[in-house]
Amino acid sequence: MAKLIDGKKVAEEVLAECIQETSELKGRGVVPGLAVVLVGEDPASKVYVNSKARKCEELGIYSEKIVLPCDATQEEVLATVRRLNHDPAIHGILVQSPPPPQINEEEIVRAIAPEKDVDGFHPENVAKLVLEDPSGFVPCTPAGCMRLIQAAGVETKGAEAVVVGRSMIVGKPMALLLMARGSDATVTVAHSRTSDLAAVCRRADILVAAVGIPEFIQADFIKEGATVIDVGINRVEDASAKRGYRLCGDVAYEEASKVAGAITPVPGGVGPMTIAMLMKNTIKAATVASQ
Ligand code: NAD
Repeated sequence: MAKLIDGKKVAEEVLAECIQETSELKGRGVVPGLAVVLVGEDPASKVYVNSKARKCEELGIYSEKIVLPCDATQEEVLATVRRLNHDPAIHGILVQSPPPPQINEEEIVRAIAPEKDVDGFHPENVAKLVLEDPSGFVPCTPAGCMRLIQAAGVETKGAEAVVVGRSMIVGKPMALLLMARGSDATVTVAHSRTSDLAAVCRRADILVAAVGIPEFIQADFIKEGATVIDVGINRVEDASAKRGYRLCGDVAYEEASKVAGAITPVPGGVGPMTIAMLMKNTIKAATVASQ
């Protein structure tokens, strides 16, 4: 049976570091500040935004939640971002994804000052990730996955890693982190056009699933003893659940855990790490700004 990689526990360790770092900053008169911009009423986005604000409060980080109506114009969102770029109390800015369809998300991301782009999506930070320049911001979810892999004591050097999914927020940065110097994995990125995906996945000592399809990765995709990191967060209908749905990952957990050596659960795996790494990035932004 696979060892469970406990994301809640590792996230608590990261958050304990954040508390320490925040108190050191405060000792120098600097209060880290995060602004979260929500456009519209998407219920899942509201939950994410509120949990980010709550986490800031727990850590003593100043947070500002800016809610714009669902018919907000591109110019209004840009004006909000520009105002926050110039606000010295704010060190990190994120615009919750996905915005309503009239909003061009790419243009909004490019408008965020790179030194406040704590999501790590601005092209300047993407370039720094590719260049292995540690002054950039690494996207929170893949950064959290790397931390989980380290916490589980898994050797990445020379390991075969397969990342399923090539999105800009998870798959691509995850692949870059795994192959970077110091991590030194041999990385394959698989996606919706990959042929014989199961065979590709079976090569993996470290398998990262970021597909967005419930329980897509099954036991026969997994090499005996592999480390499996499940990024997926999917809602599936479940009449027996109080809310009428349950959360599940991209990996069929029960059967996969009979083959894998170590595995993250959903919930309680990558999810808590994402928010913890956002706090880390905000503190990093405040630290750099105050130097
Ligand atoms: P996305 O839709 O942007 O990308 C999905 C990727 O999966 C694509 O690159 C696509 O090529 C690939 N894919 C789709 N169908 C496939 C198939 N049949 N075979 C192989 N590859 C296939 O999604 P995303 O934003 O990268 O998110 C992926 C999952 O991770 C989602 O479930 C999302 O909710 C979750 N997520 C979780 C967190 C977290 O904090 N835990 C953060 C971000 C995303």
